[in-house]
Amino acid sequence: MHGIPVSGGIAIGHAHLVSHARLEVAHYVVPQRQIADEIARFDSALKTVRADLETLRTQIPANAPQEFDAFLNLHLMILNDATLSSAPREIIEAEQCNAEWALKVQMDALLDQFDQIEDGYLRERKADVIQVVDRVMKVLLGQPGYAPPARTDDEQNLIMVAHDLSPADVIQFKQHQFASFITDLGGTTSHTAIVARSLNIPSIVALHHARQLIRENELIIVDGTQGVIIVDPDPQALAEYKLRQHQWDIERQKLKRLRDTRATTLDEVDVQLQANIELPDDIAGARENGAMGIGLFRTEFLFLNRDNLPDEDEQFEAYRQVVREMDGLPVIIRTYDLGADKQINGAVATGTNPALGLRAIRLSLTEPQMFLAQLRAMLRASHYGKLKILIPMLMSMPEITQALSYIALAKKSLEDQYIPFDRNVEIGGMIEIPAAALAINTFIEKLDFLSIGTNDLIQYTLAIDRTDDSVAHLYDPLHPAVLNLVAHIIKTCNKAGKPIALCGEMAGDVQLTRLLLGFGLRQLSMHPARLLEVKQRVLSSKLRDIVPQVGKMLRVNDPDKLRSMLARLNA
Ligand code: PEP
Ligand code: MG
Repeated sequence: MHGIPVSGGIAIGHAHLVSHARLEVAHYVVPQRQIADEIARFDSALKTVRADLETLRTQIPANAPQEFDAFLNLHLMILNDATLSSAPREIIEAEQCNAEWALKVQMDALLDQFDQIEDGYLRERKADVIQVVDRVMKVLLGQPGYAPPARTDDEQNLIMVAHDLSPADVIQFKQHQFASFITDLGGTTSHTAIVARSLNIPSIVALHHARQLIRENELIIVDGTQGVIIVDPDPQALAEYKLRQHQWDIERQKLKRLRDTRATTLDEVDVQLQANIELPDDIAGARENGAMGIGLFRTEFLFLNRDNLPDEDEQFEAYRQVVREMDGLPVIIRTYDLGADKQINGAVATGTNPALGLRAIRLSLTEPQMFLAQLRAMLRASHYGKLKILIPMLMSMPEITQALSYIALAKKSLEDQYIPFDRNVEIGGMIEIPAAALAINTFIEKLDFLSIGTNDLIQYTLAIDRTDDSVAHLYDPLHPAVLNLVAHIIKTCNKAGKPIALCGEMAGDVQLTRLLLGFGLRQLSMHPARLLEVKQRVLSSKLRDIVPQVGKMLRVNDPDKLRSMLARLNA
């Protein structure tokens, strides 16, 4: 199967199907002698849900909307219909599978039929089917039957296979040591992919049917560089990939020697290579790979996977830990970029178009208490090292002014309490909306430093949702509009003497290193795992040769020609 490569390397291991919340269920074989029990388990779950719905119906509060009764009736009808109450029993028997899987298979078939319905009202009832199945599923999961086969592998040999995972789901994997990570959905710059990349294991997204086709425990090869997986490989393929895996490991080992080497071009120009992190514990990886600072700390991950919000003190501890461990090197901490695909409490994004909605600084400005708590925490931590504050998704002058006034307010409140902080703490903004790129002078005027977020800049310039795998193939950092915007930002900032960095995924793509250097970029922030490879490219680059070639590339519109020019630049 082919997908979009997210993180390079080769993993060989056994599949472990993972589910996040709803309707992602395990699939395993139930032995023949247990089939009757499995069917009984399914029937009993139906019975429980039926009883629950009946009880609800007798307890409808007087002030409940009238439709409530009709709604419960509808759900009971769906539940009792043979398509849901009886078809899964046959699937259990025919496929010798667990009840959850049978129910899921049947639901998918039903939902497909709903998609064909022309009548809008009836089509909408799809949601009711999902809700009813969800109820049965919850009961089944609470009453496990025949246990899936125990595995003998340790974590390091497991390939995590998921249909779709949120960034919040993936961040939890940081506590584990899986061999690899593959999903059906997602784009190369989706936050799910970004976090997967930071796990530093081979990973692939947008495989489309992996979760459906792969069975628990199957042997799989994941080639994270090519974006290919091989299920149940034959001995030759296995031997071939073992060899490639070995070669990859040797390359990695060699790169380690560059850890303490200064990133300087052949013509002696210094380049600052910094790390992006999601959690304070990522500092270890940043240091191991010789990061010259933290160019982006995505603090919103501190807010995910929990029922409460981290208070000021908890945030302060986290920020101080990072600043201290970086030992005097600069640490750029971004105010939370919550909203869209990163919702507090795992809530589902609201609004018809979450990526264009209440996200990042927009959300912060509507939640002054939460924003001020974070700003105070950052300012307090600034006393312990070289901390800079970065604001995401700025779009207009009034937004900058408002954000700065909150920072002034936070400073004043600390002063009033005699709490120390760095009074000269620098405030920067992310340039990740085309409007900001085009009106870059406003940002240069008002802020101390800028950082280009190409993941969003590309998303908004090319109008492709980062999280939507159906348009993931349109993601193109080499689109002339993107190249010209990025070059324009860098050139204008350099001319004005304003520090400019780039912290989107483009920074860690070694194929683009020379291009960006040619634009005049001297500061790049990326996943720690990418640092040494990019450094190696910097060390072998001569700006005098690069700049004229890159200048020409900005005037080319033909994608094929551009790609061959890039190949020449990297040769
Ligand atoms: C970006 O948009 O490029 C960026 C670095 O921020 P994030 O990926 O967190 O949106
Ligand atoms: Mg962004």
